[in-house]
Amino acid sequence: MSWTSGDAVALRQLFRGRVWSAAPAIVVRDDPELLALWLPPGVDLLSPVGGLFDDWTHAVRRARRRHGILRLTRPGAAHSILLFRRDDGSFHGWYVNLERQLARTAHGIDVDDHLLDVFVEADGRHRWLDEDELAEAVARGIVAAAEAEATRAEGERVLAAWPFPTGWEEWRPDPGWPLPELPPGLDVV
Ligand code: MG
Repeated sequence: MSWTSGDAVALRQLFRGRVWSAAPAIVVRDDPELLALWLPPGVDLLSPVGGLFDDWTHAVRRARRRHGILRLTRPGAAHSILLFRRDDGSFHGWYVNLERQLARTAHGIDVDDHLLDVFVEADGRHRWLDEDELAEAVARGIVAAAEAEATRAEGERVLAAWPFPTGWEEWRPDPGWPLPELPPGLDVV
């Protein structure tokens, strides 16, 4: 299954084999080198209600962010790079989401989230995010210690390779794209 620019798809983040969240997206590019998705502002999201380590449920909520997010994934890579803007529209930085791409489905794409992330500021400073969540997942036996180490190593590889800027920092969405809608029935894998 491949998509063309302008296709509306849904992006689901899974954790522990369950749907954590889902967002409507527009395909920017889909080829053997890159899957680029645009996550527009002003859309409805399927958001978790409850914590990562509880039996969470879902609610549909309007995205609060002012700007959309461009999400870049190299097929096979264990991370995506998300480009964030500040409210004033200036470039904020790159969010390295450590994850694994799962199968494409009828609705779009599922991603297994690896909890740990890295945020790289526009000026090049970086910080690790959610190290506590990953540590708790290991302590609870939800994530194997070796998996957690592999996730950390992937983040270290991204920092060592330093793919910033990505070349997409000045990219803007086609103003003619309609807002994608959240398809129903996304809450169950
Ligand atoms: Mg993450």
